[in-house]
Amino acid sequence: GQCANVCPVSSIHETYEYPFIQEDMKNSDKIIIFNTSPSVRIALGEEFGMEDGTFVEGKMIALLRKLGAKYVLDTNFSADLTILEEGTELIRRLTKQTKPLPQFTSCCPAWVKYLEIYHPEMRNHLSTAKSPIGMQGPTVKTYFAKKMNIDPTQIVNIAVTPCTAKKYEIKREEMCDAGKYLGIDNMRDMDYVITTRELAKWAKEENIDFTSLKDSKFDSLMGEASGAGVIFGNSGGVMEAALRTAYEIMTGESAPINLLTYTPVRGLDDVKEASVDMNGITVNIAVIFGTKNASQFIEKMKTADKKYHFVEVMTCPGGCIGGGGQPKDTKYQGDLLRAKRIAGLYNRDQSMNLRKSHDNPEIQQLYKDFYQEPMSDLAENMLHTTYIDRSKELGK
Ligand code: SF4
Repeated sequence: GQCANVCPVSSIHETYEYPFIQEDMKNSDKIIIFNTSPSVRIALGEEFGMEDGTFVEGKMIALLRKLGAKYVLDTNFSADLTILEEGTELIRRLTKQTKPLPQFTSCCPAWVKYLEIYHPEMRNHLSTAKSPIGMQGPTVKTYFAKKMNIDPTQIVNIAVTPCTAKKYEIKREEMCDAGKYLGIDNMRDMDYVITTRELAKWAKEENIDFTSLKDSKFDSLMGEASGAGVIFGNSGGVMEAALRTAYEIMTGESAPINLLTYTPVRGLDDVKEASVDMNGITVNIAVIFGTKNASQFIEKMKTADKKYHFVEVMTCPGGCIGGGGQPKDTKYQGDLLRAKRIAGLYNRDQSMNLRKSHDNPEIQQLYKDFYQEPMSDLAENMLHTTYIDRSKELGK
């Protein structure tokens, strides 16, 4: 079916979408669901005079409930799901040579589009796994809707993100897989994306006193996440999260303690490299931020002797914590600010008992009751995607 019902924004630049959500809220049949990305909870407080990088998950959820949420779910949950799908894909590339190595991460839509335009010949290196928001969308409208006995066509599915490029991503043609699965036309997987800054502006307009809100908790079924899901917001976080799971699947053993604080991929260097031994296979990894750095890396890689297996690329400096939709009017700026936000996420991960995506009980339940196993036919249809040669957009 057609995938119309396009959100009212026509550019990837910051455009306020919450007035359209307020409009939808006037219809009492609509079911408002918010889904929050990892990096929102360590930056939102900055808009309300709190210390840079303060972890405000509980207040963020309370705010969304006050604004009219029926359910508040966590996109970190789908970060865990992404790790299961992307990690399984990596293992297949490593052990069955199904597709070329290295595998590139695919959760940053600005990077994906950059590769489609400037390096379309590398498309089959991109993981086919959708981003966490790309997985959260269809899973809410199928699995969650069914479990909660709600009509998916009444759901207004909203992602709250640090990222302006996500506004473009949710409008990609392939982001209407729930509708395809359910036989419903004109239904997008995710209906709106609002940024951290937009959420703060909305709250201020409603005169909500953010700092005095009492902590609330995510709703269940898609509200639980591991520490691996938390660190997705940091450059190097996707890599570290994937290694924790891939190592255990490959070796059948617990990830060693150094993979739970994997310093070689942490920090604010724009290109980081390391090697991990997994069952006798030396897995060479690289973690990069900035598309220019990624371009240089690709050119270098084509002629280098060293073989890489897994490469994480994020567009923004330091990863999504430094996304274009994050607060700007902060006490610290640049790397100092980024370091505060990064510490906010790693501290949270460190404080959790649940550190690995595959140990998340809600993820285990999702596979048991719905997707069956990573990369099953259903998972391939809903959670994976394909990429297009967009080099024509260069005008060549
Ligand atoms: Fe968006 Fe930047 Fe994160 Fe990429 S790195 S997903 S552009 S916030």
